[in-house]
Amino acid sequence: MPWIDSHCHLDAPEFDADRDAVMQRARLAGVGMLVLPAVAVAGFETLIALAHRHRLAYALGIHPLCVDGAADADLDRLDQALQQHRDDPRLVAVGEIGLDHFVPGLDRARQERFYAAQLKLARAHGLPVILHVRRSADGLLKHLRRTEVPGGIAHAFNGSDVQARQFAAFGFKLGFGGALTFERALQIRRLAADLPADVPVLETDAPDIPPQWLYVKAGEREQRAPSRNEPAELPRIAESLAALRGWSIEETAARTAANVAAALPRMAALLGPGA
Ligand SMILES: [Zn+2]
Repeated sequence: MPWIDSHCHLDAPEFDADRDAVMQRARLAGVGMLVLPAVAVAGFETLIALAHRHRLAYALGIHPLCVDGAADADLDRLDQALQQHRDDPRLVAVGEIGLDHFVPGLDRARQERFYAAQLKLARAHGLPVILHVRRSADGLLKHLRRTEVPGGIAHAFNGSDVQARQFAAFGFKLGFGGALTFERALQIRRLAADLPADVPVLETDAPDIPPQWLYVKAGEREQRAPSRNEPAELPRIAESLAALRGWSIEETAARTAANVAAALPRMAALLGPGA
């Protein structure tokens, strides 16, 4: 049973110098499958080529932090790309989409419009969605009530218990990563421990959200560059989930892989024998 990194930005410029080595380390660590979410239309072709080159899965969408830099016509381009690649088994979701109410200075109305439009595209194309949640769980849920989509993953989940259960009721799995490894991340650790077993999935969000052993404190950043997270860290991050749940490592791998496959049904064909 290979580990699945359900959210990795392998196309990010942080990996330009050594992307193949990063993938090699991931495979050596037992991370056999990654889901690569898109952030902007301009990157779609590179992302698709990368997923094929390394036999991975990908999602197409416009990230909330990229909405201010996107053109309205990008929503049409996304629609066209989803149509063009509809028979590609590696296309597993619409994402990364959502709302970010943490980063200051963003156009909230525009974010909301792009999020709503992308939910409609997901529904039209019959695809689940990969959601970016940052101080925005209620706003995301509001639109899920209006536009029914076939579930998906709320990645790097950081909402409340009530919000977590509402996402789960809409058929969503919740992504847990590096934040789990910090003792002081009480709310996230409690959620990971207490949610029903069919809800958590694992992710790195690499190159972001470094686990505790890679984290560089703000005061040390002058001496030491912020560390880059990478998919090979996933099994060690998984140890935190295993400890919180009282699961063996094997059980953790099996359950989280099954949860990813349930959230992103097209993954099943990529994970099967001979895939
Ligand atoms: Zn992301």
